[in-house]
Amino acid sequence: TPVIGVLALQGGVAEHLAALERCGADARPVRRAEELDAVHGIVLPGGESTTMTRLLDTFELYEPLRERLAAGLPAYGSCAGMIMLAREVVDPGSSAVRPLGALDVAVRRNAFGRQVDSFETDLDFAGVTDGPVRAVFIRAPWVESVGPDVQVLAAVPEVPDSAGHEADAGRIVAVQQGPVLATAFHPELVGGDDRVHRYFVQIVRAQQMDAAQAQ
Ligand code: GLN
Repeated sequence: TPVIGVLALQGGVAEHLAALERCGADARPVRRAEELDAVHGIVLPGGESTTMTRLLDTFELYEPLRERLAAGLPAYGSCAGMIMLAREVVDPGSSAVRPLGALDVAVRRNAFGRQVDSFETDLDFAGVTDGPVRAVFIRAPWVESVGPDVQVLAAVPEVPDSAGHEADAGRIVAVQQGPVLATAFHPELVGGDDRVHRYFVQIVRAQQMDAAQAQ
């Protein structure tokens, strides 16, 4: 059974823990470096990326997490978690976010309009083949540019369900690079659909098998 941590400094921790457990993982909150040592994969939840940066410093987790990610730890970031996994953050308003650089992408914070803005739509998600995924965006980022090794898994459709977001069609909102997955939206907030989490648990299991074979 893969042990998957959820960074538990702020944000939607409980929802991710529950979804991972339903997908067969041993899911545990991570607040300390020793807890990080024990996981085969980590989820970075939504929240607020400036606050998350500060709390990673306070809990002395920034450097240990950055190092494990650099060593190939599977990771899944949703919303603020996506921002934290990026190589670069495009954010005219603030430079208080220090991303961890696990994904070769530039991410724009609060990209879909004003702070209060949130919307929902169905989208096609590569890796989840049995029908569209319901995507809930809350003051969400989008991926502005991707490096050569990054796979685009989902983009905003031509006709989003929420009116007023037609101009956002084509914006990249889910990516993967090796064992690192990120979504601009919050699948953990959609009751009864664990497919994105199941996809991540598969990534973690595959990595565990590779590691076992390499020994
Ligand atoms: N706007 C937040 C940030 O910039 C992300 C919002 C979220 O995680 N729902 O960090």
